[in-house]
Amino acid sequence: MADSISGRSIGVTVLGATGSIGVNTLDVIARHPDEYHVVALTANQDIERLFEQCLQHRPAYAVMIESGKASELRDRLQQAGVTTEVLTGVDALQQVAALPETDYVMAAIVGAAGLLPALAAARAGKRILLANKEALVMSGQLFMNEVQANGAELLPIDSEHNAVFQCMPNGFDKGLEDVGVDHIVLTASGGPFLETPLAQLEGVTPEQACAHPNWVMGRKISVDSATMMNKGLEIIEACWLFATEADRVKVILHPQSVIHSMVAYTDGSVLAQLGNPDMRTPIAHALAWPRRVSSGVQPLDLTEVARLDFRAPDFERFPCLRLAYEVLAAGGTASAILNAANEVAVQSFLDHEIAFTGIPRVIEYTLQQLAIEAVDSLEVVLAADQAARTAARNYVESEKITA
Ligand code: NAD
Ligand code: MG
Repeated sequence: MADSISGRSIGVTVLGATGSIGVNTLDVIARHPDEYHVVALTANQDIERLFEQCLQHRPAYAVMIESGKASELRDRLQQAGVTTEVLTGVDALQQVAALPETDYVMAAIVGAAGLLPALAAARAGKRILLANKEALVMSGQLFMNEVQANGAELLPIDSEHNAVFQCMPNGFDKGLEDVGVDHIVLTASGGPFLETPLAQLEGVTPEQACAHPNWVMGRKISVDSATMMNKGLEIIEACWLFATEADRVKVILHPQSVIHSMVAYTDGSVLAQLGNPDMRTPIAHALAWPRRVSSGVQPLDLTEVARLDFRAPDFERFPCLRLAYEVLAAGGTASAILNAANEVAVQSFLDHEIAFTGIPRVIEYTLQQLAIEAVDSLEVVLAADQAARTAARNYVESEKITA
């Protein structure tokens, strides 16, 4: 069956096509060739994968950020008889997010680099499938304003937020109290170091941090899951998506990652969304909403899962969670500063420049260094991002000297 946009196939731009979310998105799209077609695919530098994806999906456009690799891709596609037009540079990301032939934009670039293209999709009134939580953490109110002002649709891909969205009643965007919602419960697996003795955290390696027990993901979000900064970013993301305050967003550890999150109502009811930990479920949900389509995910067998465990989060083990609540209380540019400092800290850890336990130290230092300003323009956000990167980088250099 063709989708509801007047019975025609839906055009999708996938930003960050070569990443974990991008690959899963193309897997779901390929299962429904009559309903969706790919308009544009983008990548930072993974030319091999983007080439293969262009061969399979025949997009009108492909964006390769690095210009040398873009010309190589152009030549290879031409030789293969593929007519995809290859663009390059960061502006091209915004261009393909706003094309008239694009109906839906999967925003799956990792980090702050995804902000401007996601905003371009909002300004062009697209359906945005938002995986790039950092965009919302950085620019919160500005982003939501653009969505509203331009009639865009914002559907969460983050499994927790997608679960919450599925459990929310109609009209939640007008305020949770009015629709009888008391609070949101975000579940968290606790990552690979939930049981590691605290004294050993100093010495864990990037490889150990990236070995998530339940999900296969890009390296940045894997480290964020290990520090639980991922959950911190998700608390901030939830406040914007569901128009609520931090005290209505609770976190519970649930190591099996089968309940993806819950909504607690004022009458005592709690609605949960369950499923196997596979991102194709939220991706298929957001692509088809309000319909349902198959995603390729195995049906959930609760007898095989057998038990579901829960416990309260530990702020001593996971100081990044505390930092997230602190920046929410501070408001303004604080969350953009936290996000930028975290990106620098995670990359430094992956590059073996700082210890795992140095990550929250870099963020806390950066937050202490910079004045928090009201967010009244995108320029303010981008300036805070840059200033935080510089401060965080300086701290990393000093940690390296003392290490
Ligand atoms: P990934 O590292 O696997 O892929 C990132 C993609 O972004 C790649 O296509 C890469 O080429 C592109 N990219 C990276 N830097 C870029 C830059 N500077 N400019 C342009 N493109 C760039 O990451 P991922 O795991 O797919 O995560 C993507 C986003 O989705 C992140 O924001 C993450 O938090 C979010 N997310 C991911 C998962 C998951 O299961 N992987 C779950 C929830 C949310
Ligand atoms: Mg998540």
